[in-house]
Amino acid sequence: MDKSFVFYCILFILIGEFILATVMNYLNAQRFKDPIPSDLNDVYNAEEYHKSQAYKLTNYQFGIITSIFSLALILAFLFFGGFAWVDKIAQSQSDNMILQALIFFGIIMIGSDILNLPFSYYKTFVIEEKFGFNKTTKSTFYVDKLKQWAMTIIVGGGILSMVIWFFQWAGSNFWLYTWALITLFTLFLNLFYSKLIVPLFNKQEPLEAGSLKEKIENYAAQVGFELQHVFVINGSKRSTKANAYFSGFGKEKRVTLYDTLINDLEEEEIVAVLAHEVGHYKRKHIIFNLTTSILLTGFMLFLLSLFINNPEVSLAIGVERPSFHAALIGFGILYSPISEITGILMNHFSRKFEYQADDFAKNTYAAMPLVTSLKKLSKNSLSNLTPHPAYVFMHYSHPPLIDRIRNLKA
Ligand SMILES: [Zn+2]
Repeated sequence: MDKSFVFYCILFILIGEFILATVMNYLNAQRFKDPIPSDLNDVYNAEEYHKSQAYKLTNYQFGIITSIFSLALILAFLFFGGFAWVDKIAQSQSDNMILQALIFFGIIMIGSDILNLPFSYYKTFVIEEKFGFNKTTKSTFYVDKLKQWAMTIIVGGGILSMVIWFFQWAGSNFWLYTWALITLFTLFLNLFYSKLIVPLFNKQEPLEAGSLKEKIENYAAQVGFELQHVFVINGSKRSTKANAYFSGFGKEKRVTLYDTLINDLEEEEIVAVLAHEVGHYKRKHIIFNLTTSILLTGFMLFLLSLFINNPEVSLAIGVERPSFHAALIGFGILYSPISEITGILMNHFSRKFEYQADDFAKNTYAAMPLVTSLKKLSKNSLSNLTPHPAYVFMHYSHPPLIDRIRNLKA
């Protein structure tokens, strides 16, 4: 392998991924005006349907602009010595390998986040605002950014320091120790995400006593599901879009309902959504996802260990001397086609699991309230009722609404 060969591989990957994503988005956009399947006729009235089409088109056009900007940015960095420049700054600040890597990634991550700030600002305060979704104030928006940076610096910086320390100490075997560290961290986060991370961004309270809580408890008892923690989170602080999710396992498992979900849905519909979530747990989807992601991380780290000592992987991104952090960037790009493929596989399983969770809700509770809740949620998020199958194959973690409803009605 020589440096220019790796450089051309990197270019080929970046441009190839851009073209693939653009073609997929284009195909999907060709279906924006398709007639709505008859089972979904009652989701939108004519005016709302026009609004949903306008929303899809706006997001499509905005996506084209952001993806061109991202590609241009990284190509400019590669061609005009951006990585070499940041690497020199990092070297001038410290002789320590760990500190150099922290400075290098700190500049790149915070720098790219600042360059992307106008886009996320526009997305929130122009697009989401125009379609009536946005509830975020400007101060929440900026405070969120600062909190995310603080978390990235503490957690990302902590993990990166440990990884380099493993590398200095164990050589090529560093990947095994890194894998163990990331596995422990993933399990920890899975158990305590709701307790530790969510409160930094949202208020969450136990669901108050009343008829909804009774219905949920009755259902949980009926399917033999021990559910002590049902929480309500103030999702309405940022957006009108509704959601519900499951986190943790064992004694730490809990269901979190967005306040927007409680406002938008009838009680039966909320229990049906919860039954779907219980289905994910009972059918062991949570464990499957966790195990697979741990195995994929191990696979990636193993490949990283084969590439990390290869100076060409560093030099290909334009730096003047090989380093762990430059090789990480080079490897990250070289690995991205593989993660694209594993992403497609994971989406495939995820869509299967959605049907299984829907079936669970249908068999242990009822199909109709889930049908009506899915329709309401789709309507309230102006979601795309006619996606292109190729786009679904690549990007959808949930089956299109029409397929889920047909399955529930079957
Ligand atoms: Zn689901």
